[in-house]
Amino acid sequence: MPIWNPRAETMQRQELRELQLFKLKQMVRRTFERVPFYREKLERSRVSPDDIRTLDDIRRLPFTVKDDLRDHYPFGLFAVPMEEVVRVHASSGTTGRPTVVGYTRADLDMWSECVARFASAAGVTPADRAHVSFGYGLFTGGFGLHYGLEKIGAAVIPVSSGNTARQFQLMKDFGATTLIGTPSYALHMIDSLKDFGIDPKRDLRLKIGLFGAEPWSESIRREIEKGFCITATDNYGLSEVIGPGVAGECQERCGMHICEDHFFVEVLDPKTMEPVREGETGELVITPLSKEALPLMRYRTKDLSVIDSSPCSCGRTMARVMKIRGRTDDMLIIRGVNVFPSQIEEVLLNVEGVAPHYQIVVDRKNNLDTMEVRVEVSEGIFFDEMKRIVELEKKILERIYAVLGIHVKLKLVEPKTIERSTGKAHRVMDMRDVYGEDGKTC
Ligand code: ADP
Ligand code: ZN
Repeated sequence: MPIWNPRAETMQRQELRELQLFKLKQMVRRTFERVPFYREKLERSRVSPDDIRTLDDIRRLPFTVKDDLRDHYPFGLFAVPMEEVVRVHASSGTTGRPTVVGYTRADLDMWSECVARFASAAGVTPADRAHVSFGYGLFTGGFGLHYGLEKIGAAVIPVSSGNTARQFQLMKDFGATTLIGTPSYALHMIDSLKDFGIDPKRDLRLKIGLFGAEPWSESIRREIEKGFCITATDNYGLSEVIGPGVAGECQERCGMHICEDHFFVEVLDPKTMEPVREGETGELVITPLSKEALPLMRYRTKDLSVIDSSPCSCGRTMARVMKIRGRTDDMLIIRGVNVFPSQIEEVLLNVEGVAPHYQIVVDRKNNLDTMEVRVEVSEGIFFDEMKRIVELEKKILERIYAVLGIHVKLKLVEPKTIERSTGKAHRVMDMRDVYGEDGKTC
């Protein structure tokens, strides 16, 4: 599969480091001059743009967090006048009030370049028909993928999210070969194939899926690949940094190549904010190197993962970020034990007899955290087969205990009873945020 931009994507690591340093110096100077928030922060910590002499000096720069963007809502951190801004987006607001981001024309070019890289790496060519089921709007998913795919020359079909019947109709009539969306919406579509009388082998021409915007496990990947008969690849991004396109998988599917010429990624221990050792999990902290409208220094993504900069057999030299394990703020502390929803998902998806649709409800009773896992049984399993149900419950509970070391409550529910999402899935309900210890609303 040809590499979209061989000059950048196969650059020698030494040359890449030099380019990153050059861009970092430029970015710090420009941001210092144009954004009062950063100028004050740097002056307070007595750092001047001239102090950035090596890439390690990035550690002298202040961190940026989501609240900094909220505090300067909507355009207070922009480094260009509005005359130069040609697009505005906002985060999807998974964790509170949305944050607003802006793009100059050059920012949009860079963004579509990054998307074109990962879409090509997954196998998309000008011959493809790309069905975009990401929402179009303030969310960066729809427009982000749209322009990157158009840059490649694929025929882009901007369907947006929702109305599954219409999605299938268009996919079938237009002969879509590439499906773009969230993994949870892809699962929902697969679930509905039968209801709409669609046989993917007979009625659809899908070959490739580009999925992202939320965490998804290898088991979900297998479900999607089997359900649609496609190769499914993962891509990662966040609106504050650019949107989708920060990193994406090649066909080796051994991590997502980062566009390191545009983004400098550190992996830090979220408690000490010191770098972890290569190969260890930590929080991704990203410094965009090329952005004009909204430059950021060391943006704390809260996303947890591992980076591998060893060579990839596809020929790309850009380091790879492994599947995102979740966000630091996704982590649930249940009776003192750290639990990631992704750990529970991995267990559920490897048990035969349950469907990949689940919900985790956390609560606090008598000062004790409780966790209930609700999961749908597969079609063909009936609740009057008591023995089978009891065995299934026992198996799941044992496996969860083996992984987490805590006892949870399990509730098997009928197929298609857990709410589906056409965008990002909302799988965790933490009632401890809603109710106080005494059960009263906070
Ligand atoms: P919000 O923070 O409001 O959800 P975004 O729409 O910008 O705003 O979402 C970005 C977040 O989505 C990332 O920080 C990450 O947590 C999640 N995300 C994006 N792509 C992936 C992916 N491929 N795997 C796991 N999580 C992802
Ligand atoms: Zn590769």
